[in-house]
Amino acid sequence: MRVTVVGAGVIGLVTARTLEERGHEVAIVAAGQDQETTSDVAGAVWFPYRVGPPERVGAWAASTRRWLARLAAESPDAGVDVLTGYEITPTADLPWWADAVDVTRAPAPVTGAPLAWRFEAPRVEPRLFLPWLAAQLRARIERRTVTDLAAEVGDVVVNCTGLGARTLCADAELVPLLGQIAIYEPGAVDLGVSVTDDRDPDQVFYVIPRRGEVVLGGCTIPLPPGAALPAPSAAIDARIAADAARLGVRPGAPRTLRTGLRPFRPAVRLGRDPGHARVIHNYGHGGAGFTLARGCAEDVAALCAQSLMVPV
Ligand SMILES: Cc1cc2nc3c(=O)[nH]c(=O)nc-3n(C[C@H](O)[C@H](O)[C@H](O)COP(=O)(O)OP(=O)(O)OC[C@H]3O[C@@H](n4cnc5c(N)ncnc54)[C@H](O)[C@@H]3O)c2cc1C
Repeated sequence: MRVTVVGAGVIGLVTARTLEERGHEVAIVAAGQDQETTSDVAGAVWFPYRVGPPERVGAWAASTRRWLARLAAESPDAGVDVLTGYEITPTADLPWWADAVDVTRAPAPVTGAPLAWRFEAPRVEPRLFLPWLAAQLRARIERRTVTDLAAEVGDVVVNCTGLGARTLCADAELVPLLGQIAIYEPGAVDLGVSVTDDRDPDQVFYVIPRRGEVVLGGCTIPLPPGAALPAPSAAIDARIAADAARLGVRPGAPRTLRTGLRPFRPAVRLGRDPGHARVIHNYGHGGAGFTLARGCAEDVAALCAQSLMVPV
């Protein structure tokens, strides 16, 4: 089958790779790639965050976790490593995504050592992973902005345009959630451990180590639809640094600040377009594109394989 994938962020590239593995002939069209995408800004650790629907996220996340763990073991150039993840939550209730991974209760490796949920968390380095994925593909990326999905060539067209889907599909449910990160030299941070402090729902804090640097975050601020990407805020940066100091997280010198817009929807849109049977949507992964990419791509591949498909 000939499939055109629109979008070259993590969702588009993983979808393209999965479809090529299933024997499809894939073409990719994207307005931007690598550092022009939201995917380039992500932490990016396996962690179901600001994404839905809960009844589908677990299976997508579990499948993606297995795939990332395999890449970590077999393809060091992909920039994936398996860390020990901790989530500090406001209550002792199991995380809503606990069916996707084994979690145990343990003291978090931060000052005060509050009890946290501990789990194996693959972490992706977008600057390594996105070019690695693109280089693995037989398809090359055609740089172009798509304005009409139904006009694209192929037996199937897969829409992986992230926030771009808001205008492309007139999707009012898709909104930008601002995130900001600060990248530091590693300093005294344990490069094998990631920590998310979710105790204050309005002010998430996280530490995501990479091979040669540490990402501190973050924030989750809803912006008006169509808002431009804001420059990094000094006030948010100061709050992140204060959270790090309070928890005893001691990175080295600061390197840079970055912002990104998470493509949030109450539920990832994954399914056939009701008006165009050839078009399959796969967008709206919020704060969890790296956490769900492979599971969602497998569902797209299953839809491609079906001869009779149901509109969503
Ligand atoms: C600060 C921050 C931290 C994050 N941390 C994590 C994390 O730790 N773990 C995690 O799993 N997720 C994380 N995320 C979320 C993750 O980054 C997103 O869910 C993911 O990047 C979305 O990927 P995407 O491919 O859908 O979108 P994008 O990466 O934005 O890619 C969209 C693609 O579509 C193209 N496009 C758009 N419109 C058109 C058009 N009309 N025609 C042609 N091409 C078009 C774009 O050019 C681009 O190639 C984080 C996000 C932010 C901002």
